[in-house]
Parts: sequence; C-alpha cells; structure tokens
Amino acid sequence: MTVDTPTGDLARSLSGTQDGDVVATGLVLVADDDRVMRRMLRGVLESDGYAVSEVGDGLAMLEACRQFRPDLVLLDAAMPGLDGFAACATLRQVPGAQATPVVMITALDDDASMERALRAGATDYITKPVNWSLLRQRVRRVIQERRADRRAQYLAYHDALTGLGNRAHFMERLEAVLERARSQRQRAAVLYLDLDGFKLINDTLGHDTGDLLLKAVAGRLSGCLRDGDVVARLGGDEFSITLEGVEQRSQASAAANRVLDALAQPVSVNGRELFVGASIGIALFPDDGDDAVTLLKNADTAMYRAKDGGRNTAEFYTSAMGSQVQARVSLESSIRRALESDEFRVFYQPVVDLPSGRLLGFEALVRWQHPELGLVSPGEFVPVAEESGLINPLGLLVLERACRDCRAWQARSQRPVRVAVNLSGRQFAERDLVEVVARTLSRTGLAPTLLELEITENVVMQNTDDSVAMLRELKALGIHLAVDDFGTGYSSLAYLKRLPIDSLKIDRSFVHQIPDDADDSAIVQAVVAMAHSLRLRVVAEGVETVEQAAFLRGIGCDVAQGFLFGRPQPVEFAERLVEGDGRLLAPGGIGAVKAPRPASPVAVAAVVELGR
Ligand code: C2E
Ligand code: MG
Ligand code: MG
Repeated sequence: MTVDTPTGDLARSLSGTQDGDVVATGLVLVADDDRVMRRMLRGVLESDGYAVSEVGDGLAMLEACRQFRPDLVLLDAAMPGLDGFAACATLRQVPGAQATPVVMITALDDDASMERALRAGATDYITKPVNWSLLRQRVRRVIQERRADRRAQYLAYHDALTGLGNRAHFMERLEAVLERARSQRQRAAVLYLDLDGFKLINDTLGHDTGDLLLKAVAGRLSGCLRDGDVVARLGGDEFSITLEGVEQRSQASAAANRVLDALAQPVSVNGRELFVGASIGIALFPDDGDDAVTLLKNADTAMYRAKDGGRNTAEFYTSAMGSQVQARVSLESSIRRALESDEFRVFYQPVVDLPSGRLLGFEALVRWQHPELGLVSPGEFVPVAEESGLINPLGLLVLERACRDCRAWQARSQRPVRVAVNLSGRQFAERDLVEVVARTLSRTGLAPTLLELEITENVVMQNTDDSVAMLRELKALGIHLAVDDFGTGYSSLAYLKRLPIDSLKIDRSFVHQIPDDADDSAIVQAVVAMAHSLRLRVVAEGVETVEQAAFLRGIGCDVAQGFLFGRPQPVEFAERLVEGDGRLLAPGGIGAVKAPRPASPVAVAAVVELGR
C-alpha cells in the first residue's frame, strides 16, 4: 500500500534549510573515475554539511541512484566504459530518477561540450580545473531549486488534510497500474468510496470535527490495504483505491468488505464516538473500462447505486447503471422545476388512539403530482431531494401547508386534531430551523401543541450537543417531538432518554409480521415496555390488520397508524374525517387480544440490542 507521505529524501527536502544560513543537508553522489578528485569533492561537500557517497563509473552511478535517490549527482564527463554523457542520458530513463539533478563536470570549457552535457539531460555543468567556490554555489543552488520543485510537486499531488494523494496523483498512479495490468494480462480494480452521512456530521458537529474524522478515515483506509494498492482522497468525503493483480471479482469485493469492516468501528473524535459507514462502487479493468477516466467514472456510478441500495455496501458497476445516473441528474432538475410550478401536494394519513379507536390527528406525507407520471410517492424523490438540498424548500412547503390545514381543521372538529410533519436531517442541520418553525406557527395561527415534528432515529443518533440544544428549543416552542422509524438504525432507548422527545414511532417493518412472528412480537412488546418506562408515547406504524391492532392494544401500545385506519389521502378526505364522530373503527372492532408468544433467544438478543 502506498501512501505518499513525505519520507526519506522527500522529508529531508521538505524540512530543508533556508538560504544556506544553517548547515546544508542532502545526499550528494559523486561519480568520478579519479580517486583523488573524488576525495577532494567529498572533503569540500562534507565541510558544507552534505552527506556524500562515491562511485567510480557510470553504471555504478545508475545503480546508486536507483538505490539511494540522491539529492544531486556530481558527474564526471570523461569516464571509462559508460561515460558521463551516456550515463546522464540513461539516468533520465530510470523511473523515479528522471528528475534527479545532475551537475556535469567537463574538462573542456567549450560550447560544444556544454551543449552536449545539457542535451544529455544535465541540470548544470562546471569545468575543470574546478573553481571550488563556484562548485559550492552551484551545488547549493541546484539542491535548493530541487527542493522547491519537490515541495510544489508534493502540494500539487497531495491532499493537505489527510496526506493522501489527490485526484491528479491517483489518476497518474492508476494509469501506471493499468499499464502493468495490460502487459501482464491481469485485471485491476478501482474502488470509489463515499462516506455515508458525512455531510450531516460536518453540518451538525462543525468542520473541525469533520476534518478529524476524514483524517481518521484516511488512516483506516491506508491500514487495511495491501502493499502496492493506492488510496487517494478525491475531495470532500470521497476516496478512491486501486487494487492490482485482481483475478476474480470476489477478490475485489473481499477488499471492499475489508474497507467497510474497518470503517464500521466507531471513530473517536474529540471524545465523541462517531459512526460513519461508506458506500463503495467497484469497476474492473478491462471489463468495465480500458482507461483511468472511464474506470473512475464507472466506479462512481456504482457507488451511487450502493448508496441507493441501503448504504454501507459495495456494488459492482454494470452497464445498465450508466443510464440510471442520467436519470438521477434529470430527476434533480425536475424536482427543482416542480417546486417552481407547484406540483407538490400534501396528503394526510390518520393517526388513532388505540384504546378508543378515535382519531388523534394526521401525518403529513408529501406527494408529487407529476404532469405525466401522475402521483409520485416520496420514496422516489425524497432521497434525491435530500442529497441535493432541495429538501429544504420542499420541507418548508410541507410544514407551511400542514400547519395551515391543521389550523383549519380545528374549526370543524369537536376535539383538537394534531398534525405530524417529517423533518429531514438536512432541515435539522439548518441553524434557523427553530426560527422558521416559530414563524410558520405564528403565520398560520396554529397552536404549537398541535404540531408534532418527526425526526428519524438516524438523524437523532448522529446527535450532538448542538442538536440536543436544537431539540430543546423546538420543545420550548411547545410543539411535540417524535422519533420516526424506530428500530431501523442504531436503536438506543437508553440514549433517547437524554432527549426531550414525546413519542416513539416503531417502524412498520416490525409491525408487519406481528402477531404471527414471535421474534417481532417480542421486540415490539419490549420496545413498548421500555418506551413507557421512559415516559414516551408509542406509535405503531404500518398497522394493516385487525389482528395487528388487537395485539398492539393488548401490549399497551398507545397510538397506531396504518392502512387499517386509512391511507394517506388529499386534504378533503382529512376534512371529512375531522367532521365525523372521530371513530375510525367501530367500538370493539379491533376484537380480542391475542396473547403474545414467548420470545425466542434471537428476539431477546435483538431486544438487548435495542435497549443499548
Ligand atoms: P414515514 O414518515 O415513516 O411515513 C410512513 C410511511 O408509511 C408512508 O409512506 C405511509 O404511506 C406508509 N404507510 C403508512 N401506513 C402503512 C401501512 O399500513 N402499510 C404500508 N405498507 N405502508 C404504510 P410514504 O408516504 O410513501 O412516505 C415514505 C417516507 O417518505 C416517509 O416515511 C418519510 O420518511 C418520507 N417523507 C414523506 N413525506 C415527507 C416530507 O414531507 N418530508 C420528509 N423529509 N420526508 C417525507
Ligand atoms: Mg414519518
Ligand atoms: Mg416512519
């Protein structure tokens, strides 16, 4: 694994002295067949503080350059065997030594030999008999120039934050990897890695924390790859990796899994444990592209697919993915356009009190009334809206309409009716969220106690002092706060205890198979009990059958929402329900309670996990 941190000669040159006022450093290789001359050169250079190494002919010079990478070669032009001119010309072909400065020492002070020296690739020359003070000046100047070049080159090819190579560096190294793979008829792989949820950490915890996290990630990536693999930071939270000598796809996916495992461990930053996963796209040479640019682009495409497929996974590129990326880009601009032409609608799904079966309120769920596609559900566009930041204007629109509609319901109803609005992580990271909510409430005239904001568990878990403060301020407005989709992420009831929230919405994936599935039933039952002990109200999502409702009521679940009571519908539908007697199911309609079955060990383990 190659991480181009400045080591050896590069480190020496980066820490180089200024203008010769301090002792000079650097390794000078003297190549001269004349032993006396070598000795004199060594004496002068060592007295100036350089380390000196000697060789007696051209071939030995080439070998020494390969091995020691000197900072400068002082090269005698006239030597037996390979002479200085030929040796210098050859050195310019040696990988890694092309840029080594060479000062040629020629016997003849004529234009032709100077010309010849420069044509052979010499950086400079001096003539015999040697003017020692001139020689010392030349050596010092050439070494200083070389250092400046190296520093500029280092900066141009490296990412200052992590010390990893940058995009330019990566592309160069990838070209070389492909060249070798071509000649050895081998495969190679390009991995494109994007951190999951990094933006949120950066937005909520601040850039300093984000930077430390990126450094830690760079270290982890470097640590889990083999010698010869190259890792680079392409920018932001995106990294790339080359894998050489890949015979099977399985080798590439094994490497990707190693990376995912390494990143799965929490990263401790400023005394806080952060979880950052990654999505990885893999493109193979020559299967998915013949050149560096195509391979990196296709790995990037596959990475997007990995993100869609649930994050913290790796995906191989397939040719079908190319067109999907196109689709994604055009979806983003369609959302932008749809916001301008007012194509988004807010639908309302009833939320009911389980013991009585009465209407408590509604959850506002956004829909896109697309001119050609018809009604589009949020699963199709909310992820893209979140990624592009368009969720901010979209979220505001939903909040505004939900508050306005809810305000209007109160006049038609005998009882107070609440509205719940989903808040994306991006909105939660906006500094002025509290102000925006307060203004919306006062503009629409809705009582704060009638508004509930739903924040997903994952957003709450990437929690910070800032976001606890934000939740407190929201709470201080008098509104209710709910944790949405509980159970789908890093579920921790113990942690939720510290937050000023009112209710917990159990994700519908747990509700789906109750009461038949003993594990899910046990989990839901345990979550209800633990949530109650924390004085949280429990809402079960996705209730579709009378059996599910009966079971939930039997274990003391407070509130339910699901197709059994009503699907998300336009506002007119909500108005009709509000005007009714508030009963969504006839008394006793839920029926008898089925006794929960005993929990299996798997379920118990899951509950322990949930209670962490
Ligand atoms: P969510 O907040 O968990 O909303 C509940 C989802 O479950 C809704 O999907 C709803 O239609 C669906 N659902 C409710 N009852 C049942 C049931 O009995 N069976 C089944 N199979 N599904 C049921 P929908 O409307 O497609 O919304 C999906 C997700 O999109 C929401 O999940 C929420 O995370 C997001 N979303 C919706 N509207 C907004 C919004 O205005 N802002 C933000 N940030 N996200 C939104
Ligand atoms: Mg919700
Ligand atoms: Mg939910």
